[in-house]
Amino acid sequence: MTDTSSLLPIQTDVVVIGAGPIGLFSVFELGLYDMKVHLIDILDRVGGQCAELYPEKPIYDIPAVPVCKGAELIDRLMEQIQPFSPTFHLSQMAEKMEKLPDGKWRVTTDRGTVLEASVVVLAAGGGSFVPKKMPLKGIEAYENKSVFYAVRKMDTFKGKHLIVAGGGDSALDWAINLQPIAASVTLIHRRNEFRAAPDSVGKMRGLVSEGRMNLKIANITAVSGENGQLSSVTLKEESGEAYEMPCDSLLGFYGLTMKLGPVADFGMAFEGEFVTVDTSCFETNLPGVFAVGDINTYAGKMKLILSGFHEAALMAKKAFTYVHPDRRYRFQYTTSSSNLHTKLGKDECK
Ligand SMILES: Cc1cc2nc3c(=O)[nH]c(=O)nc-3n(C[C@H](O)[C@H](O)[C@H](O)COP(=O)(O)OP(=O)(O)OC[C@H]3O[C@@H](n4cnc5c(N)ncnc54)[C@H](O)[C@@H]3O)c2cc1C
Repeated sequence: MTDTSSLLPIQTDVVVIGAGPIGLFSVFELGLYDMKVHLIDILDRVGGQCAELYPEKPIYDIPAVPVCKGAELIDRLMEQIQPFSPTFHLSQMAEKMEKLPDGKWRVTTDRGTVLEASVVVLAAGGGSFVPKKMPLKGIEAYENKSVFYAVRKMDTFKGKHLIVAGGGDSALDWAINLQPIAASVTLIHRRNEFRAAPDSVGKMRGLVSEGRMNLKIANITAVSGENGQLSSVTLKEESGEAYEMPCDSLLGFYGLTMKLGPVADFGMAFEGEFVTVDTSCFETNLPGVFAVGDINTYAGKMKLILSGFHEAALMAKKAFTYVHPDRRYRFQYTTSSSNLHTKLGKDECK
C-alpha cells in the first residue's frame, strides 16, 4: 500500500475519493468482484471522521460488533481490505474530475497525481477536512513558506529549529517523527494535558525528560520574521509571562473543519451540499460515478456507517458492469464461495 505521486496517468479500475470507513469498505466490496482500487484522501491517515473526530469514542451500532472505538473500527476495516492491496494517495486532495473520450474518468489531485478509471466512487463524507488556521495577525505572509498546517515532505524540516503547536495526535506524532531530523523541536500546547493517544504522550514526555525535545505550556500570541521566513514566535504563559522564542519553522495543528471543496464542481447533481443518487446502485447522474456514505442524499437517508456499508455493496454490483462489461455478475456468499475464499486468501475454508 504505497503513496505514488506521479505525472503519468495511473490506470486502475476504480478511484475512490475519501478513505473514511465507507471508502475503505468500498474496497472490500469492489475487491470481491475483481476491481482494483486507488484511494485518495486529503488527510495523512485513513479513517475519515472515525479517525479524526472520535478515535477513542465507542460506537455501539455496527452490526454484530457490540462496541468498538472509532480507531479500532478503522483498524479492522484495514485488516479486512488487506487481501485486495489497495493503493493509497494520502495528503492529496482530489481537485478535478473529467470525462475522457473513451468514457473513462480522469481524476487529478492537488499534488499532480493523475488517475484514470472506468469508475469513480465519491466517499467524501462531509467534504475534505481542512486545517484550522492559527489566529495570529499577519500569519498569511508566512503560510506555506515557514508556517505549515500539514507535513507534505519531512525533509522540509530537516535541520530546522521547529515549533509544533497543538495537543492532539497530529501534533504529537509529527513532533516525535520530526525530532530525529530537525535541529530542535519545541512542542507548544496551551495546557499540560494532551488529547493524543497515551502512547504518543508517553513517548513525547520521554523525549522531553531526555532533553531531546522541548515542551512549553503557553499560547502563541505573535509571529515575527521577514519575507515569509519566521525568525521567532511570542509565547505567553498562563502566569502572564511573555517571551520570544527563536525558530525557523512552525507547524500548527489546531484541529480541522470540513468543507465540501472541489467535489462541488465535479458535475454531479446536488441537493444542498449532498449528491443525489439512484438508490438501486448509488450511481449519480454521471454514468460510472457513484456516491456512497455521508456525501449522498436520498429519501430516508441516515448518516450512519451501516447505511454506507449497504450502499457500498450495491455500488460495487453496478460498478462491475463498467469495469468488466464482458463478464456476467454472479452473486456469491463469502461463506460458501470458494472463488471468494481464494480472493480473500482463505483457501483453507474450501
Ligand atoms: C462525534 C461523532 C460520532 C459518531 N458516531 C457514530 C456512531 O456511533 N455510529 C455511526 O454509524 N456513525 C457515527 N458517526 C457518523 C459516522 O462517523 C459517519 O457516518 C461516517 O464517518 C461517514 O463515513 P464516510 O466514509 O462517508 O465519510 P467520512 O468519515 O467523512 O470520510 C470522508 C473522507 O473523505 C475525504 N475527502 C473529502 N473530500 C475529499 C477530496 N476532495 N479529496 C480527498 N479526500 C477527500 C475526507 O478527508 C475524509 O477523510 C459519528 C460522527 C461523529 C462526528
